[in-house]
Amino acid sequence: MERAVTHRDAGRDRDVASPEDVGLPSDFRAWRAESADMFARGWFGAYMAQVSSTFLAIRFKVFALMTVVGTTLVLMSGFFVFHLYSAQVESLIRARAIGLGEVLGNSVKRARGPADLQFIVDAISNTPRIGLVTIIDADNNVVASSQSAWRGVPVAALPDQALRDEFMRKPESGKRLDRADTDAADFMVLVTLPTGDVGKLFFRLNVSAAMTGLQQTAWSILVWLAASAVVAVLMLSLLIQRVLIAPIETLRAYAERRGAAKFVPSRGPRDEIAIVAAALTEAFEATSENETRLADLARTDSLTGLGNRSHFKSRLAHVLGQAEVDGGTVGVVILNLDKFKDINDTLGHDSGDVILQRTAEILKNCQRKGDAVARLGADEFGVILTGIAGPEEAVEYANRFIRAVGVPFRIGAHELHQTACVGLTIYPQDGRDPDVLMKNADLALSRAKLEGASACILYRHELHLRAMERNSIERDLRVALAQKQFVLFYQPKVDIRTGRISGAEALIRWQHPERGLVAPDLFIPVAERCGFIAEVTKWVLDEACRQNRAWQDAGLPKVGVAVNVSAVDLRRPDLTDIVANTLVRHAISPQYLELEVTESMVMRDVDVVIGTLRRLRSLGVGIGIDDFGTGYSSLAYLKRFPVKRLKIDRSFVRDIADLRDGKVIPKVIIDLAHSLSVNVLAEGVEDAAQLEILRNLGCDEAQGYFLGRPMPAAEFELFLRHAPNGLHPDAAIREATAVVPSTPRALRGGSAA
Ligand code: C2E
Ligand code: MG
Ligand code: MG
Repeated sequence: MERAVTHRDAGRDRDVASPEDVGLPSDFRAWRAESADMFARGWFGAYMAQVSSTFLAIRFKVFALMTVVGTTLVLMSGFFVFHLYSAQVESLIRARAIGLGEVLGNSVKRARGPADLQFIVDAISNTPRIGLVTIIDADNNVVASSQSAWRGVPVAALPDQALRDEFMRKPESGKRLDRADTDAADFMVLVTLPTGDVGKLFFRLNVSAAMTGLQQTAWSILVWLAASAVVAVLMLSLLIQRVLIAPIETLRAYAERRGAAKFVPSRGPRDEIAIVAAALTEAFEATSENETRLADLARTDSLTGLGNRSHFKSRLAHVLGQAEVDGGTVGVVILNLDKFKDINDTLGHDSGDVILQRTAEILKNCQRKGDAVARLGADEFGVILTGIAGPEEAVEYANRFIRAVGVPFRIGAHELHQTACVGLTIYPQDGRDPDVLMKNADLALSRAKLEGASACILYRHELHLRAMERNSIERDLRVALAQKQFVLFYQPKVDIRTGRISGAEALIRWQHPERGLVAPDLFIPVAERCGFIAEVTKWVLDEACRQNRAWQDAGLPKVGVAVNVSAVDLRRPDLTDIVANTLVRHAISPQYLELEVTESMVMRDVDVVIGTLRRLRSLGVGIGIDDFGTGYSSLAYLKRFPVKRLKIDRSFVRDIADLRDGKVIPKVIIDLAHSLSVNVLAEGVEDAAQLEILRNLGCDEAQGYFLGRPMPAAEFELFLRHAPNGLHPDAAIREATAVVPSTPRALRGGSAA
């Protein structure tokens, strides 16, 4: 099949795996990190973190600040009022004391004798504001007192110790005496007694009555001040809320929305918040522009400006959804340029690019309203045809594309005639899902490529052709054996550690009189279905053993030949007999024959198959499990199978140089097989790097184009003839498989045969 024409940027627009494909969603990761953090800090730490993050909000900060300011103001008012009140009380008492002291002093001075003094004392002490009055002479005897019992008594004989101390003091005129009692204030003044001596006048003022009025005034001042402070703080808060908090909160919401909705400034456009918002808007717009540009780039093919494969698929899904609703018919066209690789190789990649751009331009010009054109891969384009009446109309459009692309044109001095093939599929007849429709269009395209230049194949037509082909293969197979149209090719297997040719795999080819050399993939499945496979296997076994006998007789290094058997063969009860007879007929020792079965075959009827395989093994024939890893990969079953060799499927070898996890599966297979004492062979080794990795992983043998392509018997004979001591004829391979690696190792890309 000559289909896979590649361009140097093939795979350029292959889907890239998103982080979610290979890891966990970013939200989940953030959540996990946060919860691990919370766990580490304990619930209290987490709670405190929550609280501190809440109080980070400006509203709470201002609230806290205002509370502190309000409380301070109220406390200061209280302190101020208390201070004022004390000063008022003090000056009031002092004024009274001074007045009373002067009045009493004058009265005492004018008294004519102690009886007058007592009279004055009684007169004064009857008023409610005066508690106690006592006059003491120079010898510290009570001359007169409001306490009648004290008259004429020496101060030292008074019963009250505190009063005694006060009366004994050296008086300073008008000085208030220290007293803890707040309801009364004691004073002592010097007076001239009627005798002419200087005596002491003691009086106690009742201050509680005077203070009651003052207290009321103080309380009302305090209440007024506190209320004013609270009101002022509230007003200030409201003002700050309006002027500062609300705009900042709007700005924060705007930042959190990442500019999703417009920011409306509360005040003029030159307001600081509005300026910050404008700067944010610019940053958001730049970011979203970049994101849009990136998204566009991810969906666009940079060379042609068309959408790429992922864009095509999503567009197709959209169109199909629409068609499902309104019952329309949709055509999916895949157009591939013929022999595009030749253009790249002969005229260069720049010319190749020009042709791709020209094709894109043509398809865009042919496109109708509602249609979509995309570049799906290297030289492959897709067109979605919407609103078509049916397959005939779609075929007509597709042919129009082919004709338009096929118009001759010039690049520099070269006159070119670029042809293209089209595969076509129709919704809803050929599929309802974008993937299915694209796959079917691809299949139709493969068929179109076989038909030749400028072919257009409708998917259903392709199905029809396939059925026809199966019929013709089936018909031709029946004469193929009789007419000796089958040939065997041999592909070497090489021991990785020694470089020795350890065997060969016999691979059948059909030399068809009209089709040329036909690959087994095309006819083996048909042979299996029509029951013809038994004959084919019998022939392959016979031919492989005959050939091996001939090589051994010619004195060539002895190698085992592996023959592939199919599932149908394994179920035949006489397979062991056929194998035994063939070995005997050609006098081939069983150690030189191996049968290759695929793992899916052996897993189907495990018990029957195990019986057959055990019988074969007891003959001495080796059993190899082919394409290992593509089916059940049940290593547990391996224990039960008498297996000599395991062949790692070439799909794993292809990816083995992949740094991420290419080696994981091959390594597991190799290690487990070794633990079961089973040999491991790697299929499809195509370069030295793969061989090197396999050798480092401990793989025993390798097979693939790097070590030798499948070749006709005569060529393989030459190959064996040039194998010194059974070692690979190619010196570079011998070096690459040497036990002690000699670096740097010569890399080799070509084939051995
Ligand atoms: P298989 O047994 O896995 O055979 C190996 C296939 O891989 C062969 O293709 C071979 O040409 C190909 N190959 C070997 N090295 C490389 C490489 O380095 N790169 C690539 N890309 N391919 C490589 P072939 O000959 O087309 O055989 C295809 C399949 O057909 C075989 O797969 C086998 O399953 C089947 N087959 C071949 N001969 C017979 C036969 O005589 N009888 C039966 N029943 N099946 C056969
Ligand atoms: Mg095989
Ligand atoms: Mg294989």
